[in-house]
Amino acid sequence: MKDEGYIKFNIKQTGKEIIPKNNFLKINRYRKKLHNLGLIGMYKKGEKKGIGFGNISMRTKDGFIITGSATGGIEDLDPEHYSEVVYVDIGKNYLEYNGPAKPSSESMTHAAIYKQNKNVDSVIHVHSLRLWKKLLNKFPTAGKSAKYGTPEMAYEIERLFRKTDVKEKKIIVAAGHREGIFVFGKDLKEAFSLIQKVFSI
Ligand SMILES: [Zn+2]
Repeated sequence: MKDEGYIKFNIKQTGKEIIPKNNFLKINRYRKKLHNLGLIGMYKKGEKKGIGFGNISMRTKDGFIITGSATGGIEDLDPEHYSEVVYVDIGKNYLEYNGPAKPSSESMTHAAIYKQNKNVDSVIHVHSLRLWKKLLNKFPTAGKSAKYGTPEMAYEIERLFRKTDVKEKKIIVAAGHREGIFVFGKDLKEAFSLIQKVFSI
C-alpha cells in the first residue's frame, strides 16, 4: 500500500455540527492561494496519481477546524468538506470530530502543534519536493522514522518543541514524509506569509 493519503488513526464522529458555519470561509481564502501555488492539490501523474495532498487548519474554541480527508484535489471547498477536531488522544491514536467530513489524515500532527504552543492559531501542511529538499535539516526536521499521520510524528513534534528553536522558526520539515512541510503561526496570515517567504528563497 502506498504510504500516502489515508487515515492511520481511529476516529469517532460526534454527530454535532461545526458552529459557526461560516468559519471555513477564512480558511478557503488562504487555501485557494496555496492551491494556486500547487502546494495543496492532487497528484496528476506517477504512482501517487489521484491522491490529494496538503491541508490547512485553524484553532477554534473546542479544538480546530481542518480540511477533510481526500479534499486536496477539489478547487473550492464547501462547508461539508470541513471537519472540527474536538478531542485527541495521541497515545491511543484516537480522535473525535464534529461535522460531516472525516478530518485530514494529518490531523494528529496538527493537533500536536496546537498542543505544544497555545499561541498557534493556524497550521498549514504543504507538499513540495523542491522546498522539502531545500529546507531539509536546515529548519527543524522531524526524524526519518516518523511517517505521516502517526503518533510517532506527533511525538517528533513534541521533541522538536523541546529541543530546537521551532517555536521561533515556525517551520517543520518531515524527513519521513517526503515533500511534507508544516508551517504554523498566530493566524492564517502569518503561516501563509512564512510559506511565501521560503517559497521565494
Ligand atoms: Zn502530507
